[in-house]
Formats: sequence, structure tokens, C-alpha cells
Amino acid sequence: MAYQIAVMAGDGIGTEVIAEAIKVLRKAADRFGLQVELREGLVGGVAYERRGHPLPPETLKLARESQAILFGAVGGGQWDHLPLHLRPEAAILGLRKELGLFANLRPCTTHPSLLGRSPLRSEVIGSGIDLIVVRELTGGLYFGQPKGAQVYDGADRVVDTLAYTDEEITRILRLAFDLALTRKGRLCSVDKANVLATGRRWRELATAIGSHEYPSVDLSHLYVDNCAMQLVINPAQFDVVVTENTFGDILSDISAVLPGSIGLLPSASVGAEGVALYEPVHGSAPDIAGQNKANPLATILCVAMMLQHSFGHQEAAHAVEAAVARVLDAGYRTGDLHQPGCELVGTDRMGDLVANAI
Ligand code: NAD
Repeated sequence: MAYQIAVMAGDGIGTEVIAEAIKVLRKAADRFGLQVELREGLVGGVAYERRGHPLPPETLKLARESQAILFGAVGGGQWDHLPLHLRPEAAILGLRKELGLFANLRPCTTHPSLLGRSPLRSEVIGSGIDLIVVRELTGGLYFGQPKGAQVYDGADRVVDTLAYTDEEITRILRLAFDLALTRKGRLCSVDKANVLATGRRWRELATAIGSHEYPSVDLSHLYVDNCAMQLVINPAQFDVVVTENTFGDILSDISAVLPGSIGLLPSASVGAEGVALYEPVHGSAPDIAGQNKANPLATILCVAMMLQHSFGHQEAAHAVEAAVARVLDAGYRTGDLHQPGCELVGTDRMGDLVANAI
């Protein structure tokens, strides 16, 4: 049976990078005999223009009927004046909420030929890093109630609430333990147990699940402030990092700069219902949109994540990753990574090169 994939290109460079990712997906599907059925959905600013909403009902229906969503990027200055619920970015939050996507997986891997692009000194980045940040996505400070302005003891104040149920904590911890079992078997659980009650509970639950259910995983704990430092001074120590929503937002962005360009980083958002959403970490980059300058590798690497996590095709996933590595090794670079001695290529040529390398 064919794998059902919803394709939501969105705005700006979203359409350009998605076109290249589809090229690569089709090539990998041919090579490994996989049947894929791609159906397009309008999302973001373009959906607002044509349907009056950034996440129209037919796009949500398409998402629900699919096993995986390949998402480009949304947003652009022309929609910044809209109320929050109509802005293109509301589509992302809507998909997360409606599909119950409670975990965000952000791999951060350096490529040997790009080590010199890392903002870290060569002795710190060493021979490279291969870590993944697992961020809780639907709980914590961003969603806790009460939220907003209130009067307390006669004074005006604003409130955000950091709340987690045991179930919210344990489901993301188990997902991270399972992921560690497929990698190097190390899990670092990050909290603020020295100050926050939610942090203490997080640590208790991580310890209990680790010892009862995953004794073979090497579990460690770090306070979030120390983890931020460790990511910068010794990132190679990490395999899987798991943490709550706000901490994950910040730590995943610290790790995102380590490989050298935002154009290299894929991500996946997964939930209990089976459908997962794959999107590059970058936005719609209006400054380079329509100029064939965008790096499509983040979105192409989303295809590899999809093949692995949604469809369980390790071989096809590795073939896509290996094709990206071969093209970079051969010295082809989009503008964001260009350096003397390398060949500058546009978005479409980069996609062709990777597809041909599969
Ligand atoms: P951005 O990620 O779009 O761009 C930041 C910088 O990185 C820009 O200089 C851009 O040219 C560059 N860049 C980004 N992706 C690149 C790629 N693949 N190749 C080469 N260079 C790349 O972030 P921004 O400028 O803060 O936001 C632009 C718009 O995107 C805003 O409307 C924002 O809300 C939206 N946004 C959307 C998402 C998403 O769809 N998930 C994420 C972040 C921002």
C-alpha cells in the first residue's frame, strides 16, 4: 500500500525547498521500491490569501488522512499586520494542537567537510557532533493556565503558568528513552530541579522510568543552565537530550547554530496518533525567496527523517543522508555555506545533485 504524505509547501522559500525534497523523495522511493502518494495542502500566508485562513479545514482534513506531513515554511512581512489567529504561523500551532504533536525532535549533526563552518573553535567541535534534542511541545509555560493579566493583592500583574501532568512528562520521557535505544544509548534529561517543582517531578519520573523500564540506557541529569553551557563547550558528550517546552525551545536553537547553517537542520514533530510532521528548522526567508538561493538540504534531510521515523525504512533514510554527504564532500554549496574552492549552486541544482547521488 502507498504511504500517504501531505505536502504543505507554504510561503517564501518553502515552495522552493519542498520541490527539491520531493525530487529526492521520489528518487529514493524508486530506488527502494516504495509507493508514495503525495497530496498538496494549502497552508500559511498563501492559504490565508486563497481561503481566508492559514490552516483551512480541507488542509487539516488532509493532514488527518495522512501518515506524514512534509512542511516547508510559512510567514512573510505582508501578513504581519493580521491578528495572531490569522497569521501564517498560526497554522503550525494549529497543526501541533489538532494532531496532538507533543514531541519535537531536532537532530543536530555536523558534516565532516563543514566543520570549519561551525561557530565553535576547531578544538571544541573536534571531529563533530551527533545529538538530538527532544522537546516537549504541547505543555508547560506556553499553554499553562491561568495566563495573562490579572489583579493580585490590589496590584496589576501578568502571569504564565508552568504546569505538567505526570502523563505529559512520562510520554515524552519514554519517547526519548526509546530513541536513545536506537542510537548510542545515552539520555540526558534536562530540568531545573533545584528551583522548580515541575523540574523535581520531571527528575523523579525520569529516574524511575530509567531504572524500571530502560536499565540499559545510560541516564544522566543536567540543570538547564549547565546544559546550555555544555552544548557550547563540549557538545560531543551528548546523544539524546530530553527537556520540557521552554527549555527545549532555547536549547534546540543553541544546538541549531552548531553545524554552520540553519539551512541544514531538519526536525520532526510526533504524537500519539501516528501522523508526524517534518519541517526544516528555518523559516520562509523572505530576503532570499524566489531567487533560487535557499539551501534545500534541511528539507531533504526531513525526507530522511520521515523515511526512518514514519515508515521504518532505515536503508532508504540512510541513502538520502549518504547522498547529502556525498554532494557536500564533492564541494557543492549553496550560498549560505559557500567558501573559496567550493562550487556555488542554486536550490534546484542542489536538489538534482542529491537526487542523482541516491
Ligand atoms: P528565517 O529562518 O526565515 O531566516 C533567517 C535567516 O536565515 C535569513 O537571513 C535567511 O535568508 C536565512 N535562511 C533561512 N533558511 C535558509 C535556507 N534554507 N538557506 C539559506 N538561508 C536561509 O527566519 P526569519 O527571517 O526570522 O523569519 C522569516 C519568516 O519566517 C517570518 O515570517 C517568520 O515568522 C517565519 N518563520 C516560519 C517558521 C516556520 O514556518 N516553521 C519558522 C521560523 C520563522
